[in-house]
Amino acid sequence: MTTKEQIEALRQELRDHNYKYYVLDEPTISDFDFDMKLKTLQELEAKHPEYYDASSPTLRVGGAVTKNFETIVHEHRMYSLSNSYSKEDLEDWEKRVQRILGDVDVAFTCELKYDGASISLTYEDGKLLRAVTRGDGFQGDDVTTNIKTIKSVPLQLKGNYPPKFDIRGEIVLPLEGFAKMNEERIANGEEPYMNPRNTASGSLKLQDSALVAERPLDCLLYGIVGENTGIESQYQMLDKAREWGFKVPTISKLCANTEEVLAFVEYWDVHRHNLPYETDGVVIKINSLRYQDELGYTAKSPRWAMAYKFKAEQVSTVLNEITYQVGRTGAITPVANLEPVLLAGTTVKRASLHNADQIEKLDIREGDTVYVEKGGEIIPKIMGVNLSQRPANSRATQYITHCPECATELLRTEGDAKHYCTNYYGCPTQITGRIQHFISRKAMDIEGMGSETVELLFKEGLIENYADLYTLTKAQVMPLERMAEKSAENLVQGVEKSKMEIPFERVLFALGIRFVGETVAKKLAKAYKSIDALMGASAEELVAVDEIGERIAQSVVEFFQNEKNQDIITRLKEYGLQFELSADKLLNQTELFKGKTFVVSGVFSKVSRNELKKMIEDNGGKVGSSVSSKTTYLVAGDNMGPSKRTKAEANKVPIISEDDFLAMLTTS
Ligand code: AMP
Ligand code: ZN
Repeated sequence: MTTKEQIEALRQELRDHNYKYYVLDEPTISDFDFDMKLKTLQELEAKHPEYYDASSPTLRVGGAVTKNFETIVHEHRMYSLSNSYSKEDLEDWEKRVQRILGDVDVAFTCELKYDGASISLTYEDGKLLRAVTRGDGFQGDDVTTNIKTIKSVPLQLKGNYPPKFDIRGEIVLPLEGFAKMNEERIANGEEPYMNPRNTASGSLKLQDSALVAERPLDCLLYGIVGENTGIESQYQMLDKAREWGFKVPTISKLCANTEEVLAFVEYWDVHRHNLPYETDGVVIKINSLRYQDELGYTAKSPRWAMAYKFKAEQVSTVLNEITYQVGRTGAITPVANLEPVLLAGTTVKRASLHNADQIEKLDIREGDTVYVEKGGEIIPKIMGVNLSQRPANSRATQYITHCPECATELLRTEGDAKHYCTNYYGCPTQITGRIQHFISRKAMDIEGMGSETVELLFKEGLIENYADLYTLTKAQVMPLERMAEKSAENLVQGVEKSKMEIPFERVLFALGIRFVGETVAKKLAKAYKSIDALMGASAEELVAVDEIGERIAQSVVEFFQNEKNQDIITRLKEYGLQFELSADKLLNQTELFKGKTFVVSGVFSKVSRNELKKMIEDNGGKVGSSVSSKTTYLVAGDNMGPSKRTKAEANKVPIISEDDFLAMLTTS
């Protein structure tokens, strides 16, 4: 085989695997093997730039940066959809259609309405030529570089496709991936994203395509436009697109009449909550493309299609008071305290108002009757104000100017949506928040101490920072409220135990440096191996570490430059906390599980669950929180939840025992 043939063969093989993994959700090789093949291809391509191909799977990782997205005029306009909300609306539409077509029999295709950002993909000779956003419908932005990083978008088609056509779809951020992104942001002390839709559409316009590649975006297709495609109906179109390698959800139905359409709508109105992505309705299309042609378009939307919008679960209630919370990093979050109301099965008393802009935009005031909705987000959201119910003496909300906890004047920096209390060392909530973070399970995991104890200890003047925890004595703690001799003993012992047991990377996470979450702490610990080395690193050096960006680097440097922090660390060192990667840790680290993701569930007998997780990570593996087709193994202990098992079986993920796992480690 010539080098060129070898490159071609690898590309084809990787394309196939990509398709199986991201479109069909049925991988046939391990992530590790995939990565090895990808690496081989990358090396070959680097050596032989003469064989460059814009549709090579190696281009999926992104890297190209776009400063200004080029404006592209759509060859075929991208329309909106008319909306309907009831059976009557639908029947009216059917009548209008029948009037134009002259009382023929029509069939309908029902599809879900995916809630994301519209995209138009142009293919020529089976290759992705261009990806353009909807824009104003006439012209949009060329976001091809970013779209190429989305693995379910085929760069090269399969089968018998027309020479040139456009295909329309929606870029969505599936809920699981969205939740994970937010978990990480919260752990890093960052503001979580509001909802999957905005995050998906924001992703398309990121300048750095490598950042887009990191986001778990998906592309769901629904419509082909172009001449001579040989397609006769909407339903057939979906099949064809699937055949050519596109991801087209199989939840679509050919319906003979509006009763069947309504049954589909009603079914998905209930079951949509179990879908992996958000949907805000059903799109109903006249099935025959010939009839679609006859029906044509209004100024804004096709006459042959209709969106049926699900009602978001919404209630109205009175907003009693706006209060302000101070986070451990000093960020202020306004909170709406509501008259309790039942929404989607739970009683809602509070809703986040996010920031000052949000309050101003909706002109939300105390005493207002507000509409509360539960969407994809965990915390309910205020959608608007019922102005007709606004009390006569109502006054516009004045956002606070000073910290509600320490009265320090708040700061809002350019480009940041949040206000901050800068009284890092004096603001009681920030002090206790930091100590609470320090003792938390994922950080120092101090047994026998909870958030309330921290507040009590602080109030009594026994602690001012987390280093003070290590000088607490039983005699000091005993007199506290609700403290018995035994619990005081447990507390002091719990603190003592953390010195030896908690490894460097978790101590680093516990320090509560802004933007340094669990993952980043691990990366830094691995790269620098000791706190002294880390403290000596400059921002430029830090940025050179894989996945450490400028913002993190800046925050780390600032943290260690602070004298108070330096004092605290000196003290913690004296007390014997681990500020170096332990020797055995360095010794036992391998790459054995590189590219493999494990989910660990249940109770184990030989090692604890945390030890098990550590073994996975020490050997280069990843620990996932939920089972998906991307999971390599499910390690099952006793009393594992039945849903994990079902999911593993459905995704053909091998389920292994604790012994199987340990054997993998020792026999290698
Ligand atoms: P709207 O923006 O509310 O007028 O709705 C039109 C948008 O719905 C289109 O631009 C599409 O991006 C989106 N959409 C989502 N799912 C579908 C689907 N199955 N068929 C057609 N359009 C869809
Ligand atoms: Zn404050």
